[in-house]
Amino acid sequence: MFIGHFALGLAAKRAVPGVSLALLFAAAQLADLLWPIFLAIGLEQVRIDPGNTAFTPFDFVRYPYSHSLALLIVWGLVFGWIAAARRWHVFAVVFTLVVSHWVLDYVTHRPDMPLYPGGPKVGLGLWNSVPATLAVEVPLYLAGLWIYLRATRPRDAIGRWSFGLLAATLLLTYVGNFAGPPPPSVTAVWIVGIAGSVIFLAWAWWADRHRDAI
Ligand SMILES: [Zn+2]
Repeated sequence: MFIGHFALGLAAKRAVPGVSLALLFAAAQLADLLWPIFLAIGLEQVRIDPGNTAFTPFDFVRYPYSHSLALLIVWGLVFGWIAAARRWHVFAVVFTLVVSHWVLDYVTHRPDMPLYPGGPKVGLGLWNSVPATLAVEVPLYLAGLWIYLRATRPRDAIGRWSFGLLAATLLLTYVGNFAGPPPPSVTAVWIVGIAGSVIFLAWAWWADRHRDAI
């Protein structure tokens, strides 16, 4: 899943209006922030295999540290503790977002999502159908956007346009992910993964700073 994770980050703004959207995105996407780093250092493996599922050209050979349920619970506790600074409701939201990544990926991936490193792998395989994936993920994203837009208002033109552009760019990136050509190499996957994460998080931080919680 891709924009579904961002959808939950957007929706969470309503629960913790004082927390930057960038932090909420980072929590919902933590698994996919760690993944390209772990690929780069050789801790995890992916194979480019067009047709692996209808939706993605990736064969997720091994990603127990970024994408197992057990490790995401650990990352959720660590990231929640760091991000919350003893505000317990913030901790609860951040922890839930981090673990939600596993739940959403469990729905979309074929059975390649480990419960724990070396443990059984599960997945419902929504990605075997592009229409079914879009039918789940796009409404989820629109619902997240709607909740965020109702929970905040633009303070200035930047708050309006930078956020609108970010929301549109996320959607276009998502479409490009399955409609575009497969990446040329695994090196390209982790470079684009790390660079894309930095850009989207910085952009979310900037746009969100120009909006006020209602
Ligand atoms: Zn993921």
